[in-house]
Amino acid sequence: MIHLRKILKAMINIEQKQIIQRKLQERIPRFECPMCHKQTFMILDGYLTDTPQDDFRSITIGRGEVFPTVAIVCVNCGYVARFALGALGLLPENQEQENNEQKPPIEPA
Ligand SMILES: [Zn+2]
Repeated sequence: MIHLRKILKAMINIEQKQIIQRKLQERIPRFECPMCHKQTFMILDGYLTDTPQDDFRSITIGRGEVFPTVAIVCVNCGYVARFALGALGLLPENQEQENNEQKPPIEPA
């Protein structure tokens, strides 16, 4: 964990981390690692963003569709849990709508 902290310099400020912690505690009253059952976690100091793809054989970057998450790391065993910022109500409203929209499948021309 110390190594990760050195690489990622305060990408999520303390106020944001407190909001994330409060949201998780509201929704998950008893937070425990599913692997080692300890209850001590740290919030990874940076958001993780996936770019959903419509073809698993190739990667398209920069279409603007992203799936941002925050990661919680068990300080005992290193298990990583990711939580969607949209589901926690932590995205700006317009971005939350975009992430929740169901896009119709693309038909071949
Ligand atoms: Zn654990």
